Amino acid sequence: MEAVIDVKGVEKMYRRKVHALRGVDLQVGAGEIFGLLGPNGAGKSTLVKVLLTVISPTKCTGTMLGSKIGTKSALAQVGYLPEHHNFPQYLTSRQVLRHFGAMAGVERKARNKRADELLEIVNMSEWATHKLGSYSKGMRQRVGIAQALMNDPKLVILDEPTDGVDPIGRRDIREILLRLRDEGRTVFLNSHLLSELEMVCDRVAIMVHGLMRQQGTIDELTADRSGFVITAATQMKSESLDAAKNAVRGSSARSKTHARS
Ligand code: ADP
Ligand code: MG
Repeated sequence: MEAVIDVKGVEKMYRRKVHALRGVDLQVGAGEIFGLLGPNGAGKSTLVKVLLTVISPTKCTGTMLGSKIGTKSALAQVGYLPEHHNFPQYLTSRQVLRHFGAMAGVERKARNKRADELLEIVNMSEWATHKLGSYSKGMRQRVGIAQALMNDPKLVILDEPTDGVDPIGRRDIREILLRLRDEGRTVFLNSHLLSELEMVCDRVAIMVHGLMRQQGTIDELTADRSGFVITAATQMKSESLDAAKNAVRGSSARSKTHARS
């Protein structure tokens, strides 16, 4: 397998001692759709940000597109949809795409043409001259995906691309991902939902608490379905329980303060 991403022992310690990645190994093969699955807070976005040098790792050795992580010529061949992206509301989708094309160094004529082709692909042509402020979440995600393709990337990294998208939009996004693979690109996507990955991914890795727990095809992983689904679900449940307890504690502490004042 020719590896497009090949990293070993990636660690990230944020300030205040949040150990978000605790020695992650990851190999993504050329031309595959690879899914990184894990509950919220597992470290998925942190890993992607390290690969793209949006944040600096505590430790990271390896390559992306055959070059050392952080090499500019390799980064220029990567398309990226960040999670919770927020493009200026006063721009139209056509303007957003042209702007990102310009930032990626695509020549004017080519980027204007590509912007319109991509709007067509993500089914947003009708909205090309409307401002983002009037778009639904799903429409913004479509523009975000188109934006990630402006530089004609070999590797496309999408962080939770279907977040907040309705079922029809999700299906459309799946079709776009398959199309990207057919064009010979490698696709890497993050999701906290197995359902978002199982229908499109050639291989999946499961991340929990900053560590890779399992990697393989969906068939390989679901052969022991009960095992990992319960692990991930229990994990999320206990985390949300803790969050709920803290919230209750916080609000009762606040109400006591109010009572006193
Ligand atoms: P995921 O994308 O899987 O939901 P993240 O990579 O966003 O997970 O977060 C992993 C862990 O790192 C979480 O505990 C999160 O709270 C923490 N974290 C993320 N970003 C920061 C930051 N800038 N500073 C401190 N901790 C962070
Ligand atoms: Mg995330």
